[in-house]
Amino acid sequence: MQQVKPGNAVIMGAGIAGLATAMALARHGWRVRVIERDPQIPEGGADTAFCKWRRRGVPQMRHSHVFLARLTNLLRDHYPALLEDMLGAGCRILDFRDSLPESLLLNYVPEPGDADLSFISSRRVTLEIVMRRHVGAIANVEILAGHKIRGLMTEQDSTPPRVKGVEIEADGQRWKMPADIVIDASGRGSHAPSWLHSMGVRIEEESSPAGIVYFTRHYRFRGGNQEPQRGKYPAAGELDYLKYGVFRADNGWFSLTLAVPEIEEGLRKAACDAEVFENICRLLPGVAPWRATGLAEPMSDVSVMGGLRNIWRHFYTDGHPAALNFFVIGDAATSSNPLYGRGCAAGFLQAHLMAGICARSGNPFERALLFDTAMKRELRPYFDVMVKQDEAARRRAIASREGTHRPDLRARMTKFFFEDGVRPAARGDIKVMRALMRGFHMLEDPRIALQDPEILLRVSRFMLRGHTRNAGLLGPAIGPKREEMLKQLSLPVR
Ligand SMILES: Cc1cc2nc3c(=O)[nH]c(=O)nc-3n(C[C@H](O)[C@H](O)[C@H](O)COP(=O)(O)OP(=O)(O)OC[C@H]3O[C@@H](n4cnc5c(N)ncnc54)[C@H](O)[C@@H]3O)c2cc1C
Repeated sequence: MQQVKPGNAVIMGAGIAGLATAMALARHGWRVRVIERDPQIPEGGADTAFCKWRRRGVPQMRHSHVFLARLTNLLRDHYPALLEDMLGAGCRILDFRDSLPESLLLNYVPEPGDADLSFISSRRVTLEIVMRRHVGAIANVEILAGHKIRGLMTEQDSTPPRVKGVEIEADGQRWKMPADIVIDASGRGSHAPSWLHSMGVRIEEESSPAGIVYFTRHYRFRGGNQEPQRGKYPAAGELDYLKYGVFRADNGWFSLTLAVPEIEEGLRKAACDAEVFENICRLLPGVAPWRATGLAEPMSDVSVMGGLRNIWRHFYTDGHPAALNFFVIGDAATSSNPLYGRGCAAGFLQAHLMAGICARSGNPFERALLFDTAMKRELRPYFDVMVKQDEAARRRAIASREGTHRPDLRARMTKFFFEDGVRPAARGDIKVMRALMRGFHMLEDPRIALQDPEILLRVSRFMLRGHTRNAGLLGPAIGPKREEMLKQLSLPVR
């Protein structure tokens, strides 16, 4: 396909996906305007922005974020100047070695592919202000903060609707802004489905609960204190009634995140309280060292986010695009359970692919088809696996709370396969760990690892070794049982 003449683009939203789109399109010569409803970043660095930036359009701003390896590699290979700015601002790259449990560290010998498993860890606010300043400095990009897009302009009587610009509101004024293409990167609250609905186009939406409520608190090391030594307890883990993670961030900051199943009503209501949150953290041996007396000071309240859903919206159905010259990307198109940490990688990847498609094809029908094909190829496998995993996690959480669950044979076999095979294998066999990490970091279809005969053989060796011999690899319990935790917190067990 040949290179086509670039035009004017308007992007709705200066979040991760919107900024990535601006950067990707600008590289192909497009003149880009990014319209953002929230105010400008306050003067100063990341710490000022963390405390002062009002970001109502991104309620997850003060929750833990990582940029998975898929995104980190995209930056390394295609946008190295942005990666350099991120590292310059204190964002950290954690490598494959950093992800390894003690049991694998001792004999670890790096392999060339391991470099592809590095990922960026930082406060979301730091990532975003670096991106915003980097993109804002690109000659053919203009970012208008404090401006809200109110609707789409379309050609009269066109089927499907042909988008030709947007309607903007700022300071009580409304006006029209024409564009050759419009990109909706306005996040999970996107109005695209309702705007299209008013034009007679129905957008089909798949939606299922992530099933968890997210709790995050940020901390900064005091004085010259350092991160605790890695011990035998993992810094991220999953109990049936609670998931937890330590996120090492930029400039001496870190955050702790708890994910509580929605059905654990007592625990999730209590965890909003900072004191209870701290008590839970101290009862988790992988987290407790991070809350040792005097090590670090809390820098935020506990941020809470619920109502999380896995969503996939269909903007191209049965060979028909919902609209022309209109792309919906990032969370506006598909959003996922934050536990997997995939949203930013997905949004950035879509931006990169979409800009490439618009550079190769000038035909709006072909662009829509190519974009939909790319979305399904690159993202759909992760979405399908995630929806199934979330449903399984929800069932486990119910079983853990009720204590009455009697799993059928299939469920028992699956549990055996994962608990006595995959889990110890991932801690005892570096090849299994590598394969699983490639799926986790979106480098390949997450189903591939456990369909690979070599990996299956390696996993089956651990199943045959039996529970007792695997126990050494699995280590001690990573947290109290549910009843014990609730008792310690003085919460009712039922
Ligand atoms: C609790 C939580 C934790 C997460 N952790 C991770 C993680 O670790 N790693 C990861 O990759 N992802 C994570 N995610 C997902 C990630 O935050 C999102 O996938 C990502 O922010 C999506 O980017 P986006 O640009 O599509 O939308 P957003 O980042 O939400 O940005 C949308 C932007 O559009 C603006 N906007 C909205 N409407 C309008 C309008 N009408 N006019 C103008 N502007 C508008 C908003 O103000 C906002 O700036 C997490 C999500 C949650 C909820």
